[in-house]
Amino acid sequence: MTQYLLGFDIGGTNARCALIQCTDQFKILVSQKHAIRTAQSPHDLALLIRHVVTTIGNDAGVTPAQISGIGIAIAGQIDIDEHTIINAPNLDWHHVNFYELIRRELNDVAPDIDIRIANDLNAIAWGEYNFGAARQASSLLAVYVGTGIGAGLILDGRLVLGADNVCGEIGHCKFPGAPDALCGCGQRGCVEAYAGGKAIEYRILHDIQTGVVSREALELGPEEHPTARAIEKGYRNGLPYAVDFWKDTAVVLGALIANAIAILNPHALLLGGGVLQGCPELLKHVVENIMEMAPRTATTNLQLIKPTLHDDAGTLGAALLCLKQS
Ligand SMILES: [Zn+2]
Repeated sequence: MTQYLLGFDIGGTNARCALIQCTDQFKILVSQKHAIRTAQSPHDLALLIRHVVTTIGNDAGVTPAQISGIGIAIAGQIDIDEHTIINAPNLDWHHVNFYELIRRELNDVAPDIDIRIANDLNAIAWGEYNFGAARQASSLLAVYVGTGIGAGLILDGRLVLGADNVCGEIGHCKFPGAPDALCGCGQRGCVEAYAGGKAIEYRILHDIQTGVVSREALELGPEEHPTARAIEKGYRNGLPYAVDFWKDTAVVLGALIANAIAILNPHALLLGGGVLQGCPELLKHVVENIMEMAPRTATTNLQLIKPTLHDDAGTLGAALLCLKQS
């Protein structure tokens, strides 16, 4: 039987969406990208979802009534009922019952549609697990280091949500000797506040301002904002500051992921996110540290994989959440 599902991946600057045909296989019929304005309200987004539901299938001959489910991935903490966005920092949403807003907007066009709202990394991991690099694995730990640090976990074929729907908040693990930097979660000493992309930028800026390293050494223009890529470039050029920066960062990330492997013993480890994918030298050190620090018994058969779906992982994974485990 053919089913049609709609997947949304709502980020800070874009909302991606895809109409998916599900038979015994999955096929993306239409994919779209919509710009998100700064401080777009939940109601605006609900209206966008209504617009997409009513129009996306036009060319493919799929009516809104034929779409059985919508899966929505959002970077943030979602309540266990999957209705309320507790906190979505990129959108500046706090305690928003997004489910109710969408349900109201779709009341006249698709009243029976199934609506699932998920954390974006859970959706991405679910997408990679079902469609991408992790298809052969029965359990997957997917760790993403981008602006922040998070993870999605699949054990024995099931996406693990945890008691409070916040399983995988790996960036908020603490580590010994962590600097006192305040994390976006409101606590101090988190890995994300040291090794996340945003924290890396703060560390470089701080070192420039305190004279530890110069803009010239990092080959930065006078107005150029320092990012992880400046360290990656410095590392390749043999700049001692950059070499030490990556080694220190890789030890913290490596220990974090090795400890997670010791606890979870996944078949596959997927390492993704803008910082890890954009900085191969950092990734190499992180992997070396993981392999050195994780228990041998848990790494002997561990498959190391890279993301393969890229921008489609979130939409596909979110849509599939309507189909499975529902
Ligand atoms: Zn934190």
